[in-house]
Amino acid sequence: MVIHDVIVIGAGLAGMRAAVEAAREGLNVAVVSKVHPVRSHSVAAQGGINAALKETDSWEDHMFDTVKGSDYLADEDAVEVLCREAPADIMELERMGAVFSRDDAGKIAQRPFGGAGYPRTCYLADRTGHGLIHVMYEQLAKKNVYLYDEWHVVEIVVEDKSVRGVIALELLTGKLHRLHSKAVVIATGGYGRLFNTTTNALSSTGDGMALALRAGAPLMDMEFVQFHPTTLKRTGILMTEGARGEGGYLINKDGERFMKRYAPKTLELASRDVISRAEQREIEEGRGVDGCVLLDLRHLGEEKINERLPQIRELSINFAGKDPVREPVPVKPGAHYSMGGIWTDVDGKTPVSGLFAAGECACLSVHGANRLGGNSLLETIVFGRRAGSAAAGFSFENKLRVFPEDALKDTARGIALILNRAEGESASGILKEARDAVEGHCWVFRTEAGLKQGLLEIRKLKERYEGVCVTDRGDGFNTELVTALEAGYILELSEVMLLSALNRTESRGSHFRTDFPERNDREWLKHTLIYKKDGGYDIRYRDVVMTKFKPEERKY
Ligand SMILES: Cc1cc2nc3c(=O)[nH]c(=O)nc-3n(C[C@H](O)[C@H](O)[C@H](O)COP(=O)(O)OP(=O)(O)OC[C@H]3O[C@@H](n4cnc5c(N)ncnc54)[C@H](O)[C@@H]3O)c2cc1C
Repeated sequence: MVIHDVIVIGAGLAGMRAAVEAAREGLNVAVVSKVHPVRSHSVAAQGGINAALKETDSWEDHMFDTVKGSDYLADEDAVEVLCREAPADIMELERMGAVFSRDDAGKIAQRPFGGAGYPRTCYLADRTGHGLIHVMYEQLAKKNVYLYDEWHVVEIVVEDKSVRGVIALELLTGKLHRLHSKAVVIATGGYGRLFNTTTNALSSTGDGMALALRAGAPLMDMEFVQFHPTTLKRTGILMTEGARGEGGYLINKDGERFMKRYAPKTLELASRDVISRAEQREIEEGRGVDGCVLLDLRHLGEEKINERLPQIRELSINFAGKDPVREPVPVKPGAHYSMGGIWTDVDGKTPVSGLFAAGECACLSVHGANRLGGNSLLETIVFGRRAGSAAAGFSFENKLRVFPEDALKDTARGIALILNRAEGESASGILKEARDAVEGHCWVFRTEAGLKQGLLEIRKLKERYEGVCVTDRGDGFNTELVTALEAGYILELSEVMLLSALNRTESRGSHFRTDFPERNDREWLKHTLIYKKDGGYDIRYRDVVMTKFKPEERKY
């Protein structure tokens, strides 16, 4: 029988940070990940990680910027933890071996980022995630954390409202395994792959959120998805906000820096929701260039681009055929970050006993209705550490209760049904239609009619999904089966997102309703909570925690 004190699902920065912390307490810790740790989406993070390091900066200012950026939906107790603990966590990352870029005095360099009143984003050129994930993987190895690498968790087992462990599919053999544990930390990343146009890795399919929902935990604020303003035409590959932080311009087809009409004070460094809407307007009103606007870096010069933005140059040349040293790069908004997720407190605790969550799959909420760039890597480290510590504490205090083999048999039956179905539809066909529906009706601008239509289409697709089938019936690396399982998570989360967006009859942060274009604090200064119930969903609301800052009009 396989038993661990703490099981972490996911080996991105949040999962590995949680595991390292839990293992510090001397426990038997395992990480289960469907991709090799250093291929987790965290590796793709570009621009940097925020912390008020300088004497002229303060965690209170960082907190204010974050709360304002969130359009006042963030819970301020959680934001305070994030900003207060950030500097020590950056120092710890450095001691672990993170090689941050330096300023002239040899100190950790910090660049300006959107929505921030101070240059407080630490970075490793434009490959911050790459640097950090390798550092964290070294720590994981050093702590002897057990790694189930390329194992796909298909169920979180909960009995009597307490977590008992997980069921995972070993991709190499196609075997299902029972892994027992006192505490489980979910760190499975975001749900960018609900959309066609996204910066997210193929693996960002929201698995942990769907599994948590099925296991009885509520999801919070799922209507809030961040659209990043600079993703490459056609592929959606990210051009970091650091490109604008270093001085890049956004121009329309007339060569106009159009942000002066939308955010006169901060221009290209307004927050992401504001810029994405501005771009979408320019494109829809005919001032775009072939469905895009242009990111102009030419004035920065070749030397600075090579030093600070080497990857951006390489990606633009390889994927858009444009060298930013010589020509502007076509960009447009793309789905980038999941503000919504599994509801937790500041220690990663969910309402299910022994079940924790951290990183992008969690919703505390520190980002509210719109996340500031550089705050998400920070969230993975601060709250990964805290969730790891809390899960370890829980594990010390509670007894293991193994779950019966019947649970495995039920899951196996469900999978066999897909594998053995003689005819039906492919998951990839269903997914294509689902993504078209979500992108068509739940994008930068939303309306009641569109959201209702989207919901209708997704519900029909859910019915069709009941007949999903695969052509590969083999055991080893059956990626077609994995896609079919992921399609189930994507359909479930799409429905939840559309439902939450339909109900929120106001505009706040990334959620913009053209039929309700104003923020409405009187009725909507609250979080959406969704529970799974009797085959449907139960929607509840919860008040925003406000400690220091009262809602104001948001201007950039
Ligand atoms: C292109 C890009 C650039 C970004 N740049 C920045 C930046 O500069 N600054 C910033 O603050 N933020 C940035 N972000 C956001 C930030 O990188 C992510 O929010 C963060 O890294 C997420 O980390 P995570 O540990 O929560 O999840 P991830 O890194 O996404 O890892 C998820 C893990 O879960 C595992 N998993 C998922 N489902 C299963 C399953 N069913 N079974 C087993 N394992 C599973 C995966 O294998 C993976 O290991 C960027 C995001 C993108 C997409």
